[in-house]
Amino acid sequence: MYKESAIHYPQDEMTTMLIPVTIGCPWNRCTFCTMYKDDKYSLVPMEQIRQQLINGYKYTEKIFLTGADPLYVGFDKMMEILELTRAYLPYCARVASYASIRSVSTYSDEELSKLHHAGLRLLYIGFESGSDKFLKLMNKGHTREDAIREGKRLEKAKLAYNAIILTGIGGQGTWEENARDTVSMINQIHPKTLITMNLMLVEGSDLSALVEKGEHTPASRIENLLETRALLENLDPDKEMDFDTTHPTNIIKIKVRLPGERERLLGEISRVLDKNQD
Ligand code: SF4
Repeated sequence: MYKESAIHYPQDEMTTMLIPVTIGCPWNRCTFCTMYKDDKYSLVPMEQIRQQLINGYKYTEKIFLTGADPLYVGFDKMMEILELTRAYLPYCARVASYASIRSVSTYSDEELSKLHHAGLRLLYIGFESGSDKFLKLMNKGHTREDAIREGKRLEKAKLAYNAIILTGIGGQGTWEENARDTVSMINQIHPKTLITMNLMLVEGSDLSALVEKGEHTPASRIENLLETRALLENLDPDKEMDFDTTHPTNIIKIKVRLPGERERLLGEISRVLDKNQD
């Protein structure tokens, strides 16, 4: 059943064993997204998850739980999946998964710690922006305050997370405002990696309908670069943090470690901006 549905996963997880846990997205309302539009949300039956783990390569070291938001299944089911993983893939040192600010907020501090101890080691979360105005425009279903609170709770539980943010999320003329608000959010938390993606206009999305009606103008590629530069210049992590622009939507694809390697990416961005001003 799940084989017929779309499976999306981060590019860093290309060599990881994929275990489908949910089909579709339980939210499915973000203005810019059509990824799971045709999939009705459901859970992959636990017996099918068990079969996949039983049939997995015994020496698998990393698995990635697929579905828009596997954490949405709740604490008991997540623990069951992690316990099955430990039983059938004893060498697996790291389970990773997508999650949302909304789903993380349904777990208590103690439950997050238990998930970490049971093997859940990395979450990929769409923070998208630090601006309530643009989060609302994109109908993300969380606020900036929610994102900061849940980021801090994950850190307390020692559950590492990568924060995905969207440059260009506010549209034309908003890069400075969005960079400022996103920087001030990220400077309060400690994601392992900040993954940037350019917001793309997808045919059939609600955002695309807004653009057709003349109610929204997308940011230009240069504005996206200016926003990325503003993020880089102003992020002030008190622990090392990777800054990853390798997603295919970005113009410059590079991964650097902040704060030490900041200048390397800034130099690349300046080079491209200078070229585009000729
Ligand atoms: S961006 Fe994520 S949470 Fe939003 S609709 Fe798409 S898959 Fe669901």
